[in-house]
Amino acid sequence: MADGVENNAAGRGSAVPKAYIDLVRTLSHQLRTPLSTIIGFADMMESELFGALGNPIYREYAADINRAGRSILDSVDDLFDTARFERFQSSERDFRHLIELAPDLICICREGVIELINPAGASMLGVWPVDILIGRKFIDFVHPEYHDMVGGTIQDLVAAKLRIPMKLNHSETSGVDVEMAALPYRDERDNDTGAVMLMARDVTERNRALRTVAAREENLRMVMNAVADGILTIAENGNIEMANAAVEKMFEHRNGELVGGNIAALMPGLGPGDDGIATLASFIGVTREVSGTRKSGTVFPIEVAVSEMHIGGARRLIAAVRDITVRKSFEGRLRHMATRDSLTGLANRNLFNERLEVAIQRCNDQGSQIAVCYIDLDQFQNINDAFGHEVGDAVIKAAGERLQDCIRPNDTVARVGGDEFHIIIDGIACTDEAHDLAARSLSALSIPYNIDGQEIYSSASIGVGIFPDHANSASDLMRNVDTAANAAKRGGRANYRFYTKRMSEEVHRRVTIGHELRRAMERDEFTLFYQAKVDLASRLIVGAEALLRWNSAALGPVSPEEFVPIAEETGLIVPIGEWVLTTACMDAAKWPSPAGRPIQVGVNLSALQFYQGDLISVVRHCLDASRLDATRLDLELTESMLIEKPAETIRALRELKDHGISISMDDFGTGYSSLSYLTRFPLDTLKIDRSFVINLPQDNDAAVIARAIVGMAKQLDLHIVAEGVETDDQVAFLGGLGCHVGQGYLFSKPIPNQEFVKLIPTAARLAFPPVQLSRRRSTNRPPTGRGT
Ligand code: C2E
Ligand code: CA
Ligand code: CA
Repeated sequence: MADGVENNAAGRGSAVPKAYIDLVRTLSHQLRTPLSTIIGFADMMESELFGALGNPIYREYAADINRAGRSILDSVDDLFDTARFERFQSSERDFRHLIELAPDLICICREGVIELINPAGASMLGVWPVDILIGRKFIDFVHPEYHDMVGGTIQDLVAAKLRIPMKLNHSETSGVDVEMAALPYRDERDNDTGAVMLMARDVTERNRALRTVAAREENLRMVMNAVADGILTIAENGNIEMANAAVEKMFEHRNGELVGGNIAALMPGLGPGDDGIATLASFIGVTREVSGTRKSGTVFPIEVAVSEMHIGGARRLIAAVRDITVRKSFEGRLRHMATRDSLTGLANRNLFNERLEVAIQRCNDQGSQIAVCYIDLDQFQNINDAFGHEVGDAVIKAAGERLQDCIRPNDTVARVGGDEFHIIIDGIACTDEAHDLAARSLSALSIPYNIDGQEIYSSASIGVGIFPDHANSASDLMRNVDTAANAAKRGGRANYRFYTKRMSEEVHRRVTIGHELRRAMERDEFTLFYQAKVDLASRLIVGAEALLRWNSAALGPVSPEEFVPIAEETGLIVPIGEWVLTTACMDAAKWPSPAGRPIQVGVNLSALQFYQGDLISVVRHCLDASRLDATRLDLELTESMLIEKPAETIRALRELKDHGISISMDDFGTGYSSLSYLTRFPLDTLKIDRSFVINLPQDNDAAVIARAIVGMAKQLDLHIVAEGVETDDQVAFLGGLGCHVGQGYLFSKPIPNQEFVKLIPTAARLAFPPVQLSRRRSTNRPPTGRGT
């Protein structure tokens, strides 16, 4: 078969086998179709149908493709068309056969008039049958828009030697897009016959497809220009190949100005040339924040996300660029807000913790040491209460400024709570530096504040800890510094304390006590001891104070001086106090009353019981349950309880007194000792604190105070009890002043109830003759023994 083809092809004028023609036609068609697509696309790109070809390289690409496509097409034309027709046009039958079957329009015109046209051509023009077209001018079937192009004569097309896109009329539709080529038509002897052969291919479908693609491209471009992010494509050498509108605007460049320039001009931080592109490539898959430079030279923060794309073996980077100026400044503000205290502008707890971690890390790395101070303004709540919050805030602010003045530039002052400050003394050569700073801070904070013309006095308690001496972690250090500050407060405020291990042991002891106290009630670990109160004139027992004893299973006996404050801090004193009241009333109800002398029982009350529990109904319940006469109950209060909520306290005390209960002021002289309290509150008895009795009668100061207290109490018609009486001399002195009752080791230590019961009938063992005591004029109290 192949041989036959060869032979036939070689022999001019011989018949061409149909199979050969089919093969040629198929090959021709198969090659032309994709080629047309390639050329069509390249055309459209060149004519910027897809948008401006800003980058000259793109224009070159498109031209290259176009050129290559056309050159292939020329070869195909040569191979399949020209040669074929030149060879076979002698064979009229075969030639006609070929024309008849061709899918494209094939038409021979002489002087513009159709001499011959194939069926495909007739159907392309929508005119049928074919014969009608013979003798018609071809130009009549060309869309008027293209008449100029062919210069009115088909002959001009031949000169163009190109496939020319044009539009043919169709009798029924709006027309057919075609690509047209024309050749001079030669006869068998290769003479120019003056006729022209036209070939037209219907490209309507292809153009529609291309238009769709173009529309899609246009959409894409619009989308790219609509996105707020800048988009850049960058070649391997760092040159920008494409830049969307957003990126141009972002960097203040004019339309198209960025293309061709180097990315290093926009992001100098990347480094020049290859370095820059390598850095950028390292961003692939992660979003990076770098600096951008606008045309004007201003630097601004940008965020860059990079991906890569391979086109025809060449790598391109695509960078999405976002201007994060606003976000950065917002982040900056947030950071400020998150790290600064708004009132003082000092570091807040977050920043303090951050700096502390860094400082500790440095200590660990370099073997250096730091100090941390915990500063608590003493009784700041009083300033707030007395002067209002605005003044309170002004004091805090001023205190912050004073502390700031005490430190070195690298140190940190932070406000970490209402009236609490922390200081990091970063890098100290010796602990003396920390002592100096603590002392300076202490004196700076003790200078009175002048706020709106008001003098405000304040002081501070400071705890100091050294890293690594006092701790091996930040949290340890802070806990120990806190412990030291607490110790400073417990130690009477307005001082500073360096942390010691002992402080932690004390804290641990307090925590353990608090823990054990919780279970003490249910374990029945409490008992009440009673300590006799003795009438100094008659030397008879007139009452007893109930004193709580705790024998802890875990800790052994614990003094009330140690556990009562903890029970008060934890609130446990409320249920414990209730137990004391109940037990004391029960015990006292069973006490004998020798010769009709009823013995009073004194019960200590804590402030919390006054404010938290329903004290009055608890007291009433205790009296009811024990059937103890209300006049036999005496409640011992301290001065601090009277100042906190005076109005409420007075009301409650009145109600208690209305029931017949009597009230004693305990520890008098140790607290506020204001006369006004004594006059305002409905009291019956004043107990002179042991500290004034202990040095009597030798100590002159103690004697003066004791005399003043007794004198004042007598003025107010109060019953007077002296605590801590240990010697006969004290009894003599106090009796001489006019003190009515004594309580102390001289008469009896606190003892268990059953022992106290045995003690009641016995007269006090007083070794000296009774002194002449001045008695109260009137009393609602039970008789104290005299005259019974
Ligand atoms: P307080 O109310 O001032 O009790 C008197 C304290 O002085 C008792 O200590 C008592 O043992 C002690 N004392 C009495 N006479 C002498 C003396 O001649 N010399 C010396 N050196 N001390 C004497 P105690 O029992 O250790 O109680 C200490 C504090 O515990 C009490 O002081 C009181 O404030 C509190 N407390 C005791 N029991 C209770 C209670 O049931 N409820 C409340 N809220 N507090 C209680
Ligand atoms: Ca007491
Ligand atoms: Ca007392």
